[in-house]
Amino acid sequence: MYKEMKCKKCRKAILNESEVKQFVDAHNSKFDSDPEECDSIRNGTNVYLTTYKLPAWLLDQIDAENWTKGKIHCPHCQNKIGTFDHIGGQKCSCAKYELAPISFVKSKIDLIKNGTSL
Ligand SMILES: [Zn+2]
Ligand SMILES: [Zn+2]
Repeated sequence: MYKEMKCKKCRKAILNESEVKQFVDAHNSKFDSDPEECDSIRNGTNVYLTTYKLPAWLLDQIDAENWTKGKIHCPHCQNKIGTFDHIGGQKCSCAKYELAPISFVKSKIDLIKNGTSL
């Protein structure tokens, strides 16, 4: 699966392998599950994280907003790469599932896959 997440702007590593392993889709399941009839998954522009084992830089940004909601910035170049929302209530397109609290915008990050990409 994925081994690393980098910032697309400064190209520095942001999340390591054990952290990107925790990514879930809009239905809170791992990516290798069957695609479902939900726009948030089919055309998903985000990847999601729950609050299990977050890196210190991300906890700092969430702590600064008292675990409410806010923007996530790259710890290296401060570019905006995602959002967090612990107030909740945000659902996916089919409205069956509540989105995980932390989301990264795919166009702002690079997900590096395991193995060589040809
Ligand atoms: Zn950056
Ligand atoms: Zn859905």
